Amino acid sequence: MANPGDFAYTLKQQADIVRIIGEYVRLKRAGAQNYSGLCPFHGEKTPSFSVHASRQFFHCFGCGESGDVYKFLQRIENISFPESVRLLAQKLGVPMPKVQFDSPAEAREAKLRGILVDLHEAACRFFQERLKRPEAAHAREYLKGRGLDEEALARFRIGYAPESGFLLRDAVREMADQELLRESGLFSQAARDSAPPRESSAAAASSAPKQPDREAQPSTLYSKFRNRVMFPICNEQGKVIAFTGRTLAADEKSGPKYLNSPETAIYHKSRVLYNLHLAKEAIRQLDYALLVEGQMDCISVYNAGCHNVIASSGTAFTEIQAKLLSRFSKKIVVNFDPDTAGAAAAERSLGLLIGEDFEIRVLTLDQGFDPDLYIRRKGADAYKQALAHSQKYFDYLIERARKQFPAHTSEGKVKAVNYLLPHIQRVASRIARDEIAAEVAQKLQIDSAVLRQELHHVAGARQTTRVSAPTATGLTEAEPILIRALAGGAGLGQQQAEVSTTSTFTRGATAVSSRQGDDPEFDPQRQVQFVLASERLHEGLASEGLIDALMRAVSEGTDPMSLELADGERRMMAAALMDEHELLTPESLHAALEALRRRKLEHRRRELRSLIADAERAQDSISLGELLREKTNIDKLLRPGQDALNP
Ligand SMILES: [Zn+2]
Repeated sequence: MANPGDFAYTLKQQADIVRIIGEYVRLKRAGAQNYSGLCPFHGEKTPSFSVHASRQFFHCFGCGESGDVYKFLQRIENISFPESVRLLAQKLGVPMPKVQFDSPAEAREAKLRGILVDLHEAACRFFQERLKRPEAAHAREYLKGRGLDEEALARFRIGYAPESGFLLRDAVREMADQELLRESGLFSQAARDSAPPRESSAAAASSAPKQPDREAQPSTLYSKFRNRVMFPICNEQGKVIAFTGRTLAADEKSGPKYLNSPETAIYHKSRVLYNLHLAKEAIRQLDYALLVEGQMDCISVYNAGCHNVIASSGTAFTEIQAKLLSRFSKKIVVNFDPDTAGAAAAERSLGLLIGEDFEIRVLTLDQGFDPDLYIRRKGADAYKQALAHSQKYFDYLIERARKQFPAHTSEGKVKAVNYLLPHIQRVASRIARDEIAAEVAQKLQIDSAVLRQELHHVAGARQTTRVSAPTATGLTEAEPILIRALAGGAGLGQQQAEVSTTSTFTRGATAVSSRQGDDPEFDPQRQVQFVLASERLHEGLASEGLIDALMRAVSEGTDPMSLELADGERRMMAAALMDEHELLTPESLHAALEALRRRKLEHRRRELRSLIADAERAQDSISLGELLREKTNIDKLLRPGQDALNP
């Protein structure tokens, strides 16, 4: 991240985000300070991708991609942050300083990640080599039994982790110190009292020349994976970042059947799709991905000739994975067995993918067959044939509803509809929802009007966060004003400055200073911070979390524009900022705070009404008196024309 004083920060100030993004996306002016175009990160026909000129950030209201110029370059060029800094410097013709990382912490992180990737590569080679040795005969036997030939073993870099816990450690100990080996997730640590004798301490110290003093402790690390068949997990670039180990031991003591690497600096389970590195080109070409549950399934299906296959490893899809996948295709065929443990996760995944606008089909194999077994028993062609007959997601759901609830009784029909409605509700497009409703009505032989009515109700209650319009954020009128005030900096005097200049690429800093002379007392950021901190007027608002985060940033002196926010909040902030058509004035700010005060008083008045009723019932005259007094005061404050801000 770019911080004040950094080279990256200074460079970013010199860059014009509109011009940089304009090299990739055709942008049209959409407002005083913002531009819009078709999002390069998801397929769309109407523009929901916006760029704010003076605040120097972009936001897509369709897919939620958001950030500054570096974030844009990282995403579009698929590069790291340091690389994006280098690229921007190149584009602007600014020479790079010698040091490439902004902070020691970041340099350490980058170095750590580099070493961890090297360690995993070394481990992967080690496991592959061990699989060829005589003591791995049972592993080779197991793999042969699963139908994997030499070619498949090489392609998926499958290996064998030997029984001994120390061989891998000894093989890689030259590459990193003990701390890094621990952080790699490849090793476990023995308890302190069971540490090996002193002699190994001398060996450890002498083999870590970089930090000779730090490793006085005896080496107590041993391999986490022992006597297991090893499946490497790669990132999108094909670098090994984790492993799954399948045990070859029959006894219970050898741990779980499948053992996975823990999360590390390079491995985040929620961000990885198994086999994406091998599948991504085929996914792009065929314009759909085939999703299976387990790694073994994935390997089998790939070997059967379906190269667009990826695996979720039995956990529900995350939003990050959906976005990762959507760069290659927004169509997906899901192959899972609805009666397995992974089915619940798969169904949750489908819900998420539907919400992310994926087009989904479901492939259901004969009961009891997973893809791996199906291919081994019936052959690759049979599998491809089944794949060609995959069902549309809603046909699959309707069938499930029919099986669960007898559709010939009216009670069964109601239950079936209730089962389907939440699924329909997740569909982003209203038109698609209507079509599905009609289909459901027809297939379940329900009077369409009744179902449509129900659906209409559900559609109305649908959360607005998915709708692709910057204004549809469910915010009250006051909230964007507060968000803009708290975001501070550029944009306050912008709209006026814009009138007086013809340059499209007016930069924030100069424009603000030329206009802020109007009212030197007016500091909306500080004012809002003060009022909200003391009165908590934003409590219960949709933007409460965002406003709290902004207030923290203001009080800590960090840049509100570089806050780490949840998707919904980032969207809210972008909507508030992109829509800066009205100038932030002392009057508009006053009115916004006033509106919130009224809202709070009205809320309290409703509370008082029920408290008063309670007190009357309990014949508690003392409380009743107090409550009535408070209510009278509030009534007075809320009288039309009364200013709650200055009572
Ligand atoms: Zn987008």
